[in-house]
Amino acid sequence: MRRAALSAAAVVVVLAAGFSFRPAHEPPPATRFVGEGHKLQARPLPRPKQLPRPRLVRARSLALGLPWHGRLVRGVRLPREGRAFFTWNPVRKRSPNAGWRRYGTDRLVHTVLAVVTAYARSHPRAPRVGIGDLSRTHGGDFGPRFGGIGHVSHQNGLDVDVYYPRRDRRERPPLSPHQIDRALAQDLLDRFVRSGAAQIFVGPHTGLRGPRGLVGVLPAYHDNHMHVRLARRPLARSYVLGRSQRGRPIRVLRVGDRAGRRKALVVGCIHGNECAGVAVVRRLVPLARRASVDLWLVADLNPDGHALGVRQNGRGVDLNRNFPVNWRARGRRWDPEYPGPKPLSEREARIAVRLIERLRPDVTIWYHQPQAVVRISGHSAAAARPYARLAGLPFRALGSPPGAATAWQHRRFPCAAAFVVELPAGRFPAAAAARHARAALRVSALASRSC
Ligand SMILES: [Zn+2]
Ligand SMILES: [Zn+2]
Repeated sequence: MRRAALSAAAVVVVLAAGFSFRPAHEPPPATRFVGEGHKLQARPLPRPKQLPRPRLVRARSLALGLPWHGRLVRGVRLPREGRAFFTWNPVRKRSPNAGWRRYGTDRLVHTVLAVVTAYARSHPRAPRVGIGDLSRTHGGDFGPRFGGIGHVSHQNGLDVDVYYPRRDRRERPPLSPHQIDRALAQDLLDRFVRSGAAQIFVGPHTGLRGPRGLVGVLPAYHDNHMHVRLARRPLARSYVLGRSQRGRPIRVLRVGDRAGRRKALVVGCIHGNECAGVAVVRRLVPLARRASVDLWLVADLNPDGHALGVRQNGRGVDLNRNFPVNWRARGRRWDPEYPGPKPLSEREARIAVRLIERLRPDVTIWYHQPQAVVRISGHSAAAARPYARLAGLPFRALGSPPGAATAWQHRRFPCAAAFVVELPAGRFPAAAAARHARAALRVSALASRSC
């Protein structure tokens, strides 16, 4: 965000320098033009191949205070340029930007590098992305005394200015919104949204869009760059909980608010041929960004069964009969409800138990298919009923089968809610996944312990 309070003189200077005319000192274009007349085509100059790949540094940076009143500890400097980006000094109007203007948290620098690298891979003919100011070496005031009109924010290493790609592919900021390549700029913006931006400001004449509340329009000075601010915490942190019987990693994603008073766990798939819930979990990731609940997501507890397209895990055991509650031996491997040779004989079930013992979630939601019903048992009804209403599913009071995860949770943590959502069979439209994700988030945030 650029400094809002400006003298009239400064405004005139900025408008003149920014948009009204083309400064005489613009360097020659970084593109070669081939063809003639209206068929004129720009061909990008070869990328500087000799540039080393930036080394990734984990610095455990700290973003202290607020973007407009804060500082940066153990910041990391963005390299002056790379295969996928150049840096731009907005005061001297040239590349590269000064080293002391290129500091951010390690996460911001990594995010910028990851976004521009993936973007360059998708658009090999696009110009490199122009990156402007981040924060100063130790953050703090980045106002007009550091040149130009200065920044109101950019103080704690979470802000970065990103110039829109130009249609003429020149590697410098656009001078007017007409020079912006909208499609590329929108794609770049979308990538920052997906990478954990908490806020992005764009200019009013750019026509760029994004999720409401996350992408906003600022009237002044953002017609040549978008201002990207990362969330204070990462969008999601992923942990490998262990490996399936056939060695596939089982991950949990932690999203939402770590300091949230409620803790919730959502498991997208336990029966390998009932995995529509994975789509719900995916929808929960961006939704949870500003939720007040500490949300843990296991998209797939049974990756082997999922890969094989079977209900059981990779050893023919029904994981949802393998939990240590009312467990009874019966049948043999690959029977539909084979409970395994003994309780918790399977790694996947042990992983779930360990996670639940550690988290002690207030509410747990397990997705299955294909009955299109919310299964309610015991005291979990208080959490499950609102879910059914929000998701538009009927609910039915059904006891849990022996060895089922919810039955074990009810015995082990009698005050916490745990219930099963049976999604419908077959194709599961995105709108339905979104509806279920919203229901899961509401119930996670509201559910209180019943004792
Ligand atoms: Zn900015
Ligand atoms: Zn099932």
